Amino acid sequence: MKTLLLLLIYMLAVARGAIAQDAPEDTQCVRERAAMVETIRAHARSYVSVSGQQGLSERVLKAMGQTQRLLFVPERSCSIAYADGPLPIGLGQTISQPYIVALMTELADVAPDDVVLEVGTGSGYQAAILAHLARKVCTIEIIPQLAEAAAKTLKDLSHDNVSIRLGDGYAGWPECGPFDAIVVSAALGQVPPPLIDQLKVGGRLVMPVGPAYTTQTLTVVEKTGPGQTTTRAVGLVRFVPFTRSKD
Ligand code: SAH
Repeated sequence: MKTLLLLLIYMLAVARGAIAQDAPEDTQCVRERAAMVETIRAHARSYVSVSGQQGLSERVLKAMGQTQRLLFVPERSCSIAYADGPLPIGLGQTISQPYIVALMTELADVAPDDVVLEVGTGSGYQAAILAHLARKVCTIEIIPQLAEAAAKTLKDLSHDNVSIRLGDGYAGWPECGPFDAIVVSAALGQVPPPLIDQLKVGGRLVMPVGPAYTTQTLTVVEKTGPGQTTTRAVGLVRFVPFTRSKD
């Protein structure tokens, strides 16, 4: 009887959204998440045939399949959370299209022992994907409410290898680095020099470079030696602006 009562209270709490974070997704959601991975795979394949760019590795696709995007978006519907499109996350910001998250992760070429920096935590989704693939992820967010919410989501999901810092990511996070890879999730006209300084030789930085409120060029900068880089353009993307703190 007591067990039944506890079960009833638990179900009511789940229905009210009080225990949403670590509740497993229902079968329909699991199906939609798997379908999202297949959409990304197909998108990557057609992109390869059109532009000659690389496809996506199984490691990246597995991380995408393991991460419950539903927990990172305000939207409670799985068919929306697992559609391959960007979604608003509040305060004028967006979580990127899953295919773009997968592509940026692929381009960052993260190995299991890597230390990775992300600038622009937003919902924490990209950080969660990186956390599946790297040893340590350091992520910086400039909007306090988003940093707080992302920290909670990542903690609920037991991503203990992610550290979040509130602030302007332009200056990077030297105490957390040096970094094997850096992913910048907001658009700026040029790559912040401190980020290149904090990149290890052989490391990669992936970032949308270009003006705000229009399309930018998804760019990969590789550090080939101290003070030396090579840059390659991957394609056009549209990201929210990289903002600067006043101090
Ligand atoms: N990677 C995120 C998407 C974030 S959108 C996700 O997976 O959800 C870009 C984010 O960059 C926004 O949350 C925005 O507030 C943040 N941002 C913009 N300029 C920034 C800066 N200078 N430093 C740190 N974060 C910044």
